[in-house]
Amino acid sequence: MRICWFNDHRLGLVDGSLVRDVSAALSALPEPVYPGPRGDTLIAHLDEVLGAASGIAAEAEAFPVADVQFLSPVAEPGKIVGVPVNYRKHAEEAEADTEVFTARYRGSIEAQGLFLKATSALVGCGEGVSVRFPDRRTDHEMELGVIIGRKAANVSETRALEYVAGFSIALDMVVRGPEDRSFRKSVDSYAVLGPWLVTADEIADPQALDFSLSVNGVLRQASSTRHMIMTIAEQIGWASRFYTLWPGDIIMTGTCEGVGPVAPGDTMCCRIESIGEMAVTVRAWDGAQLPAGHAARRAGRNSRRSDRTTRFPSR
Ligand code: MN
Repeated sequence: MRICWFNDHRLGLVDGSLVRDVSAALSALPEPVYPGPRGDTLIAHLDEVLGAASGIAAEAEAFPVADVQFLSPVAEPGKIVGVPVNYRKHAEEAEADTEVFTARYRGSIEAQGLFLKATSALVGCGEGVSVRFPDRRTDHEMELGVIIGRKAANVSETRALEYVAGFSIALDMVVRGPEDRSFRKSVDSYAVLGPWLVTADEIADPQALDFSLSVNGVLRQASSTRHMIMTIAEQIGWASRFYTLWPGDIIMTGTCEGVGPVAPGDTMCCRIESIGEMAVTVRAWDGAQLPAGHAARRAGRNSRRSDRTTRFPSR
């Protein structure tokens, strides 16, 4: 199944070229408590909500995919984990260009470790990327996004994929430069996830997915997840030995060769086999803007207290 958040924080089931508004299925979620359990509430209860959504989808209001604004399919991840230089040809292009790629990030993935992106950077494809520092280089990194479905602590590689809820397209946007990776990759809107989450049962082999990214119609990145140096299962196992992964945690699994700069006015088109495609526009930061979906969510938070179906997420 394909599940999404869209427009003014509506829950959607994607059915071919339609998005069906199944927000009423959020009534399958438990009553909120504070402090709540770690992780994203919807992802932690995905089976119950999808069950409820299936029952109402046929009668639900439907919108063409092309007409909705997609928000991040995970609303409240606890963390966004990044995998550095996980494709050999990207490692080669980084090593060949010491002007752009900082020399202190050389060596194997194991030597460098995983990094974290701030969750405040997260947007959906419909919200777009806002370039914060126009005098510096902002690059696209096209990646497979893995969404953790249940608590994973010290799990073995052989069982790691059992902890995956689903997959999305991810953009690990980055300001190039000398600072720590986590700082340069955590700018607001520099973590894009979309357009929807495809549940794990629909992806027979996540290590055999072709993907590509073009900018303004010109192909920049094209590869397959089969070329990952560290597999998804190895990433989950390794990460879970350092910290517990919780429902909704996102892993951005690394980018292939062809990373490059974007500028306001550009449109990135991203595609992953068996998941779908998304267009992401790039604009200049206006000094105060919040991503539209998040702003709408905050504005609507107190005005809909009596409406259970739109009360999640609680932030
Ligand atoms: Mn990356």
